[in-house]
Amino acid sequence: MRHNVTCQGLFEGYSVTGSTAYQRTKGKLYAETFRCPGGALCLDFCNSGGGARGASGTEWIAGFPDLIDWLEAAEAVTGGQAARLRRAGAASPRAATRVWGRAIKFREALFRVLNAKAQGGAVAREGLSNIEAEHARAVSFARLSRTGEAYAWSLDPSASALEAAMQPLVESAVSLLTSAKLERLGRCGRSTCTWLFIDETRNHSRRWCEMASCGNVLKVRRHREKARSAGR
Ligand SMILES: [Zn+2]
Repeated sequence: MRHNVTCQGLFEGYSVTGSTAYQRTKGKLYAETFRCPGGALCLDFCNSGGGARGASGTEWIAGFPDLIDWLEAAEAVTGGQAARLRRAGAASPRAATRVWGRAIKFREALFRVLNAKAQGGAVAREGLSNIEAEHARAVSFARLSRTGEAYAWSLDPSASALEAAMQPLVESAVSLLTSAKLERLGRCGRSTCTWLFIDETRNHSRRWCEMASCGNVLKVRRHREKARSAGR
């Protein structure tokens, strides 16, 4: 049993862990985005912008096919849905590129909204407007499906329109934004890291996307600073 809250600790309770879809993404850049699950599909998607927002400027989801691979690896679409969307994308590559562009724009709008919330800043109306507009479009691809005792919105199993790929992302974002879970939204304590997560620790103590990377980097830096000031 782990008591320290690290990415690995949270991994244990997350559906991506050990899934064959996750294994398939290994070795690809966007597999980076699954190193540290944020606790909601839309947060994992936001975290997939870590490369593009970072010093290297590398977009981990570099086109429509990557977007579908990512959604399948995150188990947001089934294998059958992914195959249908891939076929539709191959048949209309320009339209597919436009949907990918919309997905990235939506991701960054959502990031700005959530980042402002996590940092206690003002949320820009423009970010919310993008989410509202995408929600209005995604609704037509949503169906109610039974999940235990309740129902949840999920992607119409027969949807093959390219923009249907947006539905799981938009649904996750809107459901997080309208839920009490938003109170638990946090951002990694390392200033250059933009990863967001839901802090599920009892005492709201999660500070890092993952201890193994950002947590340790800061610990080492503080240790050096201390040693330096002691040596003066
Ligand atoms: Zn981090």
